[in-house]
Amino acid sequence: MGALLAILRDGQARTKADLAQLTGLARSTISQRLDTLLSNRWIVPHEEAIASGGRPATAFSFNRAARVVLTADLGATHDRLAITDLGTEILAERTADVAIDRGPEATLGWLVTSFTDLLAEAGYTLDDVCGVGVGLPGPVEHASGRPVNPPIMPGWDGFAVPEWLGARLGVPVLVDNDVNIMALGEHWAAHPQTDHLIFVKIGTGIGCGVISDRHLHRGAQGAAGDIGHIQVAGGELALCRCGNTGCLEAIAGGAALAAQLEGAVTSRDVVNLVRAGNLPAVQLVRQAGREIGSVLASMVNFFNPSTIVIGGAIAEAGEHVLAGVREVVYSRSLPLATEHLRIQASELGDRAGMIGAAVMVIEHVLASVD
Ligand SMILES: [Zn+2]
Repeated sequence: MGALLAILRDGQARTKADLAQLTGLARSTISQRLDTLLSNRWIVPHEEAIASGGRPATAFSFNRAARVVLTADLGATHDRLAITDLGTEILAERTADVAIDRGPEATLGWLVTSFTDLLAEAGYTLDDVCGVGVGLPGPVEHASGRPVNPPIMPGWDGFAVPEWLGARLGVPVLVDNDVNIMALGEHWAAHPQTDHLIFVKIGTGIGCGVISDRHLHRGAQGAAGDIGHIQVAGGELALCRCGNTGCLEAIAGGAALAAQLEGAVTSRDVVNLVRAGNLPAVQLVRQAGREIGSVLASMVNFFNPSTIVIGGAIAEAGEHVLAGVREVVYSRSLPLATEHLRIQASELGDRAGMIGAAVMVIEHVLASVD
């Protein structure tokens, strides 16, 4: 990101003198760059009195309203779409139930139509849009934005999602898996000062996003954080959708929990049973928290995060899951690693993915300005 925009992005207004001091750049260079940023509407001027009582100096601040971002968090069966400003504030949003297993062209075609409708409703056009961020419920190769062998997305393997959407919307398109963008969103909105954070999504499946030194850690191929397929002791009979047995997800994921409860088909049903005080459901969810906690205890020793955030549909069963996770993590991780460790529920809830997809796009777009 340009040095000036990187500083101004925090929203605080600064004068040329402030910026010269902060960057060490010559005043003439700063004037030139500010003119460019002003003419492209990335910043706005304010007349401000100087504290010493001298004549007013012009200060400049980031213009969150300069462009809008289109974001989508696509799930297996449930989707969330939004328009945000450059500060990730949601300007318009909608939800829909479109099954991702209809394949990429049907799903993305629906997405283009929905984005177009949403823009019109909110009074914007594609000219206002600086980029599109999409989260998918499966592994995504980050460099290409293509899904890689996604287990619940038939027809999507290797599909060029950014190119397909980019050709129809005419703006840059960034794609990542849903857990990574949830981690980005939660970190941005609720834990901006936290250096090392793990976001765990407990939905139908289980995965996590890793924030290391305030940046998303994707790993060599974008597969980092796929903890749902770590094998847990005692689960050898549980067959996982990945083809292995004993995976964490096959024991503690929402689909596995629903299969063990009468009257439950989805994660949502499990949560409803817990909320209704159904004892077997409460016990099962708490035990799932312990199983997840045993994997997280190892991660805490390995990675030493200061915060673990628990999100996803099953997390909405509330304290029962968190209690199970905490019970095992605090008893099994090393004392030095847990001394200041916080384990808490997601603050953004089901908006984490949409906000995170916006963060991904905004950082990408601003990085190429000036
Ligand atoms: Zn597995």
